[in-house]
Amino acid sequence: MGVPLLLHACCGPCSLEPLRLLRAEGFDPTICWVNPNIQPAEEHDHRLRVLRAWAEDVAHVPVVEGACDRAAWERGPARFGTDRLRRCRACYALRLAEACRMAERLGFSHVATTLAVSPYQLFDTCNDVLEALCRAHGLTPVVRDFRPYYPEATRRSRELGMYRQNYCGCRFSAAEAALERASARDARKAAKEAARSAGGA
Ligand code: SF4
Repeated sequence: MGVPLLLHACCGPCSLEPLRLLRAEGFDPTICWVNPNIQPAEEHDHRLRVLRAWAEDVAHVPVVEGACDRAAWERGPARFGTDRLRRCRACYALRLAEACRMAERLGFSHVATTLAVSPYQLFDTCNDVLEALCRAHGLTPVVRDFRPYYPEATRRSRELGMYRQNYCGCRFSAAEAALERASARDARKAAKEAARSAGGA
């Protein structure tokens, strides 16, 4: 029997490797879903369904759900708009605070988050927030750098046929990701044209 740990999960694909690695370390994780940041609501529900199906059918891990306080997300993180650092810090704090409240209520002593696997997250900011909240709640944060395992998480989630979203969750991240994809497309096109002109010169 491992050490009980409440693992905040942002989505199914990002849960694969943290769950495996934490179990290998001797933890006995329960997944905690608290993501009022995911917009629109249908997308939130879809990601939760994907996570639940994998948790039940493949990973055999319990899932508990926290409050989905969308109004609090709008009052808090959303007011920072395109200021990504402040918006994401507030977003991590909102979600992880609820995870810590649940950990206390359910009798867990250790807390971690799957946000630590994604190279798209603000790793140090997220860990600072988790550590401060755990201190305030008398819990032990389990901070690990899962980012080297992101390619494996991508590979395994594809193999399992899991839905993989192309933005973090909020409407700002959807716009930012679309802009990044468009810039990358433009850069590739410009590079091709430059190579064609050089070839023809
Ligand atoms: S980009 Fe992700 S972490 Fe940052 S505010 Fe949006 S949903 Fe939250």
